[in-house]
Amino acid sequence: MNKLTSYTIKEIHKAYRDKILTPTSFVDSCLQKVRQTSELNAFVALTDDVAETQGIESEKRFYIDKKHRPLDGITVGLKDNFCTNNIATTCASNMLKNFIPTYDATVYSKLKDAGACLVGKTNLDEFAMGSGTVDSIFGPTRNPWGYKVENWRIAGGSSGGSAVAVSSGACVAALGSDSGGSTRNPAALCGVVGVKPTYGLVSRYGLIPLVNSMDVPGILTRTVDDAVSILNCISGPDIMDSTTIKKEFKEVVLRDDFDLSKVKIGIPKEYYCDGMSPEVIDMWKFVSDILENEKAAVKTVSLPYTSVSIAVYSILNQCEVASNMARYDGLEYGLRADEDYSTEELYASTRSQGFNNVVRSRIFAGNYFLLTRNYEKYFIKALKLRRLISNDFKNVFNGDNKVDVLLTPTTLTDAPTIEEFSSKNNRDQCAFQDYCTQPANMAGIPAVSIPIRLSKNKLPLSLQLMGPNLSEELLLNVARRIESIVKFPCIDSVNINTSNV
Ligand code: GLN
Repeated sequence: MNKLTSYTIKEIHKAYRDKILTPTSFVDSCLQKVRQTSELNAFVALTDDVAETQGIESEKRFYIDKKHRPLDGITVGLKDNFCTNNIATTCASNMLKNFIPTYDATVYSKLKDAGACLVGKTNLDEFAMGSGTVDSIFGPTRNPWGYKVENWRIAGGSSGGSAVAVSSGACVAALGSDSGGSTRNPAALCGVVGVKPTYGLVSRYGLIPLVNSMDVPGILTRTVDDAVSILNCISGPDIMDSTTIKKEFKEVVLRDDFDLSKVKIGIPKEYYCDGMSPEVIDMWKFVSDILENEKAAVKTVSLPYTSVSIAVYSILNQCEVASNMARYDGLEYGLRADEDYSTEELYASTRSQGFNNVVRSRIFAGNYFLLTRNYEKYFIKALKLRRLISNDFKNVFNGDNKVDVLLTPTTLTDAPTIEEFSSKNNRDQCAFQDYCTQPANMAGIPAVSIPIRLSKNKLPLSLQLMGPNLSEELLLNVARRIESIVKFPCIDSVNINTSNV
């Protein structure tokens, strides 16, 4: 693997300034990397022409205008549920296979304005419903760590394409979406940094919705420093998304002199759960000891409603999915079945041909929960419980014994093999895979996943930090300190074998 793949954004920019590297040559090397690793199936479509044109513009700004932008010549991938003008946006679904948006998602407009170069659209579970990136019309994405042609490891999901694109060096950063863990989960399993910003900090305009009240664009990068560069670019109010936080965004700053001794860290006891592997528990303890050694105050806290979170999420997710998916009726967007018997038949055929079983079953369950006779019993009750889950976080962050951040594992195990993963259905897998990540979406709070060390299978194990709303700066400073101590190996030095791809 090319050493370039371990450069941070700042190092790449320095290399551009020193003319050791140029934006156009870097874009080319990333496009080459995508092709060399095509077996991983991280991308559903490459955007060579776009990337090359953007690379040329960056080069001009670097060397002719002598005034470059914050992400000039930085290669990015976009999960294929972000709308891109004139570029197909499929949600990995038959329903949108031929959908070509006429506008850009705000996050993409911002990345473009900052000089980023779009390498391609990345793979996902259909409509971001999943935790493995195995349910896509383009086939599954494979984890580069411990790669084998048969019984490979899953990438995690649903933003697995973005995580693999970054970890395999095909691009410097990628965006995913996170409604229940879909950015942090694949980041954790692929050994990269995953950031779920505070709900409303980053615009959802142009992100095809899954659970509107929980969705946020997420960031995947190889380092915390790079995650901050991307976060600073894409955050802030947007008149196109009424749920964005109106307050002006203050850029996140990482401080070299950041003082951990002033930080109180909570270890929520409910996050020790069935199925968590002993080596994950061991890693969790290892990092909490490191933080204590660094003079942070570490103590056990309680978030009593954690255990109901998955069931509540499942109900709310399916209710919102049922409403959201109603727009796909064969008339306005995407697929239209060849059916002219009646409008009802057109709807039914379009939706049964367009959606996979996972999507259809969520629509079905969601409509059941929303029936007049069930509405109070399921939907309203779930909303009340959601408030209690959210209050749990408020209590630990604001109560008498308050802590500043919470430290938990991101996933319960390292990346399962495709055989292990396929032994459970989508719903049970999500309940297992999202156990630690999903409560943050209920409360809208920010969370960061950082890789810590390798498991005995030589696969990444990661931890998650969560904090109160808009505590990104604190979280990312703590994350960077941990990153600098644990020195997680870059995939280069693990020497993955993709020679057979
Ligand atoms: N696994 C969860 C689901 O399928 C979360 C997905 C996500 O965050 N997009 O609903």
